[in-house]
Amino acid sequence: MITQDSIEALKARLDVVDVVGSYIELKKAGANFKAPCPFHDEKTGSFVVSPSKQIYHCFGCGAGGDSVKFVMEYEKLNYPEALEKLASSYNFSLSYTDNKDNKPRSQLMEKVSEWYQGLLTSKPSALSYIKERGIYESSVEKFGIGYAPDSNATINYIKSQMLNMSEAVDMGVVGYNEENRTTYARFIERITFPIHSANGTVVGFGGRTITGHQAKYINSPETKFFNKSRLFYAYHHAKHDIYKKHEIIITEGYLDVVMLHQAGFTNAVATLGTALTVEHLPLLRKGEAKVIMAYDGDGAGRAAALKAAKLLSASGFNGGVVIFEGGQDPADMVQKGAIEELSDMFRKPKPFIEFVIDETLSLYNLSDPKAKETAMHEGIAYLKTLSAMLQEEYKPYLASRLGISPSFVRLTNKPQTNQNNPLIQKNSHRDMWELSLIKTVLEHPHLIDQILDALDPSLLQFHSQEFAMAIQGNREAPTLMAILVDETIVALKDEKALRAELIAFLSKHYERKLKKINMQSSVSFEEKAFYIRLYRGKIAKLKQGELVTARD
Ligand SMILES: [Zn+2]
Repeated sequence: MITQDSIEALKARLDVVDVVGSYIELKKAGANFKAPCPFHDEKTGSFVVSPSKQIYHCFGCGAGGDSVKFVMEYEKLNYPEALEKLASSYNFSLSYTDNKDNKPRSQLMEKVSEWYQGLLTSKPSALSYIKERGIYESSVEKFGIGYAPDSNATINYIKSQMLNMSEAVDMGVVGYNEENRTTYARFIERITFPIHSANGTVVGFGGRTITGHQAKYINSPETKFFNKSRLFYAYHHAKHDIYKKHEIIITEGYLDVVMLHQAGFTNAVATLGTALTVEHLPLLRKGEAKVIMAYDGDGAGRAAALKAAKLLSASGFNGGVVIFEGGQDPADMVQKGAIEELSDMFRKPKPFIEFVIDETLSLYNLSDPKAKETAMHEGIAYLKTLSAMLQEEYKPYLASRLGISPSFVRLTNKPQTNQNNPLIQKNSHRDMWELSLIKTVLEHPHLIDQILDALDPSLLQFHSQEFAMAIQGNREAPTLMAILVDETIVALKDEKALRAELIAFLSKHYERKLKKINMQSSVSFEEKAFYIRLYRGKIAKLKQGELVTARD
């Protein structure tokens, strides 16, 4: 954690006019400064910055606060992230209460990225690729596009700059060959696209070969700072417009993003060589944006779009899918100048639910009654992942696509309307305690051992199956995704909370067992006495706060 002293010292150094003025243009107006508000659409200047009070305030939308608040709002950062951002722009070093985990990162990745950028112009074949694809110089600069030379040059650069080689290995810039104990560059003769974290630090690279290497695109390996299934390429460039337009465009490639931004679609990002996963959802929820998935029309693209649309619709996202037919992609269209056409496509994406139903049915020959029946069942199974309201809403749609009467579309197991998590509604009972324990396993895997030490998975009465899946780390399972995205289910926050919950659960468990054994007439007196003593002993220990093991 950042120490309070250093926060105060940093704040004392900040001037709100300076900070705000580094993001937007301010005009002097009396004792204050004015500008069109960056947080809502307007042409007049309702946005006022007061140097004497060191605050900003918008009379239009009510936004307001100090320098740190402005950076949080404008850059979509949390409090410590905003402090770190400000500290780095003002060359201020923050101090931390425990320096182990929060040690500020070195600038290694930024340095390597800058070096790659500088090399781009020295390589004619790299430059001609940039030109061929229609990438403007301004985009090269904005996205920090560069060129990675041969392996030796990179290794020598790191050595000559006295950068830490083992950090370069940890960050995935350099690989280490265990056998002959040598280091080698991960990116060799490739156009490089730096990948940033959501708050703008370089955490990896994407590389496009220009020497016809078999792998056309490669990404940095996953590291402590770089999780491919959580991040989007160019999110830090796009986030401001995502929040402003309440819309995000997700594409499949770096080049699509670069070209879309170039054409003014500055809310575009890309997945990093992976499918859209449940881990992306927290970032996607930010800014309450409508999600537009822009995918290729080939088999792989359609399958990925179908999977994403299922995930997003079941998780309550609004938005739709745009499919690029005929081998086209967004980058090609921008290069051809088909901006209007693109605009139209993004304006009218096919809503997720319709897309899923249409794609699902397209896999069947609906003139064959038997296939049609299977298709209907698959359609129904999908509808059941949606909220009760949406199920009713889309029942007629599914029926009309199948050319049958809506009365055939039977959504049995009518979900309860007050529960917004349809994937787990098929259980007759939704046990919040067990669900919370499952979410704890999913969010804090390091607590698994403690849980398994205390209880056997079979002790869960309602959700033991989901619990077992969670223990196995099978996070892709739809029921687990549903638990992860359901905000009414809250994970236990730490070991202490978990311990208290386990003690309460086990106490109830043994109370129940005690009652049961007392009522059993078929058990011999000796046996009864043995179990009564055993259960009472466990209950007594639990009462004193001792965690016992329950295997029966
Ligand atoms: Zn405003």
